[in-house]
Amino acid sequence: MADSFDVIVIGGGPGGYVCAIRAAQLGLKAACVENRGTLGGTCLNVGCIPSKALLQSSHLFEEANHSFAAHGIKVGKVELDMNTMLARKDDVVKQNTSGIEFLFKKNKVTYIKGTGRIAKTARGAHEVAVKTLDGKNETYSTKYVVIATGSETTPLPGVAIDEKQIVSSTGALTLAKPPKSMVVIGAGVIGLEMGSVWRRLGTEVTVVEFLDVILPPMDGEVRKQMQRILERQGMKFKLSTKVTKAQAAKSGVTLTLEPAQGGASETLTAETVLVAIGRRPFIEGLGLTEVGVKVSNRGFVEVDGNFQTNVEGIFAIGDVIGGQMLAHKAEDEGVATAEIISGQTAHINYDAIAGVVYTWPEVAGIGKTEEQLKDAGVAYKTGKFPFTANSRARANGDMDGFVKILADEKTDRVLGCHIIGPEAGDLIMEVALGMEFGAAAEDIARTCHAHPQLGEAVKEAALNVDKRAIHI
Ligand code: FAD
Ligand code: NAD
Repeated sequence: MADSFDVIVIGGGPGGYVCAIRAAQLGLKAACVENRGTLGGTCLNVGCIPSKALLQSSHLFEEANHSFAAHGIKVGKVELDMNTMLARKDDVVKQNTSGIEFLFKKNKVTYIKGTGRIAKTARGAHEVAVKTLDGKNETYSTKYVVIATGSETTPLPGVAIDEKQIVSSTGALTLAKPPKSMVVIGAGVIGLEMGSVWRRLGTEVTVVEFLDVILPPMDGEVRKQMQRILERQGMKFKLSTKVTKAQAAKSGVTLTLEPAQGGASETLTAETVLVAIGRRPFIEGLGLTEVGVKVSNRGFVEVDGNFQTNVEGIFAIGDVIGGQMLAHKAEDEGVATAEIISGQTAHINYDAIAGVVYTWPEVAGIGKTEEQLKDAGVAYKTGKFPFTANSRARANGDMDGFVKILADEKTDRVLGCHIIGPEAGDLIMEVALGMEFGAAAEDIARTCHAHPQLGEAVKEAALNVDKRAIHI
């Protein structure tokens, strides 16, 4: 036996590394097994961070091309240096992933580089077998195991990903130059974010979506307006359409499309195809069947309200247990699980977790959508405020979008908030805090907001829940 621990976390993504650090902070002897070679999981290596680095670079490129002139700034011909843009992105990733290694050292978390498998399980004494990255087999004993192995791209039958012509989000982060044309399959978060990156850099982007809407879980009004904004930016949409086949050739990829409900097929050719139809849990090689850990028919590890699986002492968090596949949700589950293991109580309010789409303008949503409130028969009030009426948005020249707050008709308690607008992801956080404290729309409306700030649009939307906004 190589060593023994209180907690071994399998997977070093935002769920796993945060869980291991919190466990160590609480005085537990913690280890984290990760097989990628770097810490930070999907999010830091091939997800949140590299995509945001490219979104920022491509946003600046678009601003320099189309917005500087209105500010009286002449820049001449703006040129793209793709190598530098990609190298900067890789450097941002490296800084972040090595930062986690530093945090492990600081908190005395043991970092085991290899692939973990739950080899044996007994009450209070589990065994994790690790095949190390340098080819050794080691076994560790532990009181608790936390499964945090994340997710992977959902494949689309008939469309084989080669990460060159037909790419997943990972391949879409490393294209050597903007393709002339790109078809994105799936109008979800990845499709719209990565589609925006390449459109801004000059690619003709067409998004093919099975449903008749984009961003399906978002509020209906947000979905409709965002589609109009993206179309105005030059992105094309083919909704209610399914892809049945992809044929890659030197000249490009030919896709066969059909109406979602069936009917006559057509073809669409593009230099590059991005498959972004969702992600599925990753549990391969973990030994779950052998030790009797239950998984759902979609492959998600099943847990109770304390993140414990059906096997005592084995917990699971993050993308691998389903729900919103978001880094901050995984992190909060990591903290809660470490605290539960150490004997504390912990709880996550899933109604107060914001989802953000980092297009420009950004889209952010928290709590219930209007459709969900209607379906549940909840009586609610709506307060809306457009960014055209916000002085800072005007000064910045970023006036697309609005803030919408939904509050309970009787109690005025905030039930949801939906924003399209500049920095929507940051703006929604005051609503998240309010919802955690059970705030009423009146509480937000009575809070003095600094001027001139984009956040005044949130205050005005809260005022408008009772139809008393000042600036419209
Ligand atoms: P992961 O981050 O997937 O980490 C799991 C880790 O476990 C991986 O490193 C894997 O290699 C490792 N592993 C798996 N099996 C084993 C094993 N047997 N032994 C050892 N190691 C193993 N979310 C946001 O909130 N905001 C964003 O802006 C955002 N952008 C994204 C952009 C893209 C392109 C993608 C793909 C995702 C994005 N996400 C974003 C989602 C986010 O990345 C995930 O929700 C998050 O990473 C989930 O964290 P996790 O810890 O559950 O799993
Ligand atoms: P998604 O679930 O956001 O969107 C997938 C889209 O593909 C949906 O609109 C769905 O209707 C559509 N679709 C499904 N099957 C299809 C088919 N056969 N043909 C055409 N369209 C089809 O998934 P994603 O964009 O792949 O992202 C995966 C996960 O990663 C998401 O859960 C998301 O939360 C997370 N993520 C988050 C961020 C962020 O927080 N900013 C960014 C990227 C990814």
